[in-house]
Amino acid sequence: MQAESRTLEIDLDIITRNARDVVAFCAEHEIDVCGVTKATCGSPMVARAMLNGGVTSLGESRIDNAKRLRYGGVHAPLWMLRIPSPSEVADVVRFFDLSLNSEIDTLEALSQAALVQGKTHDVIVMMEMGDRREGVPAEELLPLCEAVQDMAGLNLAGIGANFMCVSGILPTAEKMQAVAAAALRVQEALGIVLQYVSAGNSANLSLMDIPPPSIINHLRVGASILRGEDPITGGTLPWLQAGAFRLQAELIEIQKKDSVPEGKVGLDAFGGTPSFVDDGEQLRGIVNLGRLDIRHEGLNPEAEGIEVIAASSDHLVLDLNDNKHYEVGDTVAFQLDYGALTQAMLSPYVVKVLVNRRHQRRVPTAVCVMADDDLLETPAYRTFVSQLSAMGLRLDNGEFSFPLTIASDRANEPELEDIEYGVLCVDSEPGDVEHFSPESSALFGLRHASAEHATMIRERDLLALTMEDIDLRGAQDCIRNALRQVNNGTDGFALILHASIGGGMFEDPDNMGLSYRECSLVMERIAATRQLKALTLSGISAASSDKALERAFAYVLSALGKRIL
Ligand SMILES: *Cc1c(COP(=O)(O)O)cnc(C)c1O
Repeated sequence: MQAESRTLEIDLDIITRNARDVVAFCAEHEIDVCGVTKATCGSPMVARAMLNGGVTSLGESRIDNAKRLRYGGVHAPLWMLRIPSPSEVADVVRFFDLSLNSEIDTLEALSQAALVQGKTHDVIVMMEMGDRREGVPAEELLPLCEAVQDMAGLNLAGIGANFMCVSGILPTAEKMQAVAAAALRVQEALGIVLQYVSAGNSANLSLMDIPPPSIINHLRVGASILRGEDPITGGTLPWLQAGAFRLQAELIEIQKKDSVPEGKVGLDAFGGTPSFVDDGEQLRGIVNLGRLDIRHEGLNPEAEGIEVIAASSDHLVLDLNDNKHYEVGDTVAFQLDYGALTQAMLSPYVVKVLVNRRHQRRVPTAVCVMADDDLLETPAYRTFVSQLSAMGLRLDNGEFSFPLTIASDRANEPELEDIEYGVLCVDSEPGDVEHFSPESSALFGLRHASAEHATMIRERDLLALTMEDIDLRGAQDCIRNALRQVNNGTDGFALILHASIGGGMFEDPDNMGLSYRECSLVMERIAATRQLKALTLSGISAASSDKALERAFAYVLSALGKRIL
C-alpha cells in the first residue's frame, strides 16, 4: 500500500504494561482503577489494551466515544466521566453503566430514562474539592446523595472528587482526608456502604506515598496509563513508560530563512500577535502537519537539535539550525503531550498504525486449513494444496499458520467476537454485522440487506460498498476505500469471501455479482497490503461445482499473493 505521510504510531504493549503497573500499584492500597480512554476518542484497541492490563472499568466523556467502544465489541463496565448533558440522558443510560453527577435536574432526567429503558443506572455524586470544576460543595453532598437514593432507576454507587483539571489543585493528603470524611458522613447518615469512593485521577498516583484513608477505593486514570505521565511534574512517572504514541510526518521544505520576518507585522493565521527572537539566519524546515492535526505547543521532536517554531493550519515550521542532516521527504518523529495526542487522535488526516505487535513480525510460511473432510477429498482441493506448496506455503496446524476456514454457509463461519483484526466481508449479504466493529470493518459487494440489517448498518455507520457503488466508482476505487478502513489502526485484517459475490463461484446466468476480473482485482489488492491475517471462504463445499471450487481456490491463492508472473 502507498506509504502514509502522516502517521500516529500506537504501541499497545506499552499501554498494557502501564495499565498493569498502575493497577498493581493501586492494588497495594486496595484501590480499583478505571482506565480512561477519552484522549484516544474511545479507541476500542486502546481500551482492550487497558483491560488486558487489569483495569476493571473504562472511563469516557462523550456519547460518540462510548458508541465507538460498544460497537467495537468492548463490553466492560463503562463510566461517563463528564457530568451528563440533560439532552443526552437517554444515551447515557443506554451506553454507560455509571455516570458522575452534580445536578439534581439531570439526575431526575436520568432516573426517567432508566425507567423507560428498564435499567438501573449507577450514579456517583461529585463533590467539589477546590479545583472548581464539577461537583457540589461539601455541605450539599449528603442531601444530593439522599435524593439519588429516592430516585427510581438510579443506584447511589458512591461519591467522587476530581483534581488538577482546571485550576491545578493537588490531591494532597489533606484533600484525601476531606474526601474520606465526606464519604464516612454519607455512609453513616444513610446507613449504607458506598461501593465507590473515587478520589481522583492520574495526579493522585505520585501523592500516594502517604497512603490514602482506607475508605478511598477507586481512581480514574488516563494520562498515566497512556503516556506514563505524572501530571504533577509534567514529566514521566519513573515506574511507567512514555512513548506509547509517536507522531511521524514528512518534511516538505528546507530553506534558509531569516529568523525575523520581513515587513509590517499584523496578526498570524489564528489571530495571535507573533513575536520573534533574532537568531540571525536559520535553516528552517516545514513539515506537513498543522493545527488541524496537532497542538504544536505540545510536540517534542525526538531528534536532537530540532525545535518547533510555529504552526498554521497545515504547516509546521521547525528550526533545523542545529541538525542539518535532513532532506525534503525525510520523516521527522515527535513525542506528544496530552493535548497534542488528543488532537492527533481526532484528526482524520493522521493515519493511526499499530507498532510492535507480535503478529506483525511473522510472515506466514504455512496455512492451517479448517474444512469438512469430504471437501479435502476433492481434486480441486488437491490441486490447491500443490499450488500452495509451489508458493512456499506448507499445510500445518501450528500457532503461527495462516488460518483458512472453508465454511459451507454463513452459519458455519467462525465467530468474529474477540477478533483483534479488521474485517473485510466480500459478500452479497451483510452477514454477521452485529459483530463488525465500524472502526475497522468494511462490507464489499452488497446486493441484498434485510430492513433490520440496513438499519444496523446505518446506525453503526458501517462502511458498506454496494454493487451500485462498485458500478459507479469502479472496483478499484471501492476496494482501496475498503482496505484503508480495515487497515486503519488494526493489526491486519481478516477476509470473508462468500461464493454469492460472483466471479464464477456460483451459478449466476445473469451475472449479478462481481465479474471474474473484478473479483481477481480485489484479491490482488488484498494481497498487496500484506496485512491479510485470516481468510474464510464461505458458501463452498464438496457439493459445489468443479468450476466453482476451482475459481474459489484461485481467489484464495491470489489473496495469498500468487502472481501471474
Ligand atoms: C479525564 C478525567 C479523568 C482522567 O484524568 P487523567 O488525568 O487522564 O488521569 C478522571 N476523572 C474525570 C472526571 C475526568 O474527566
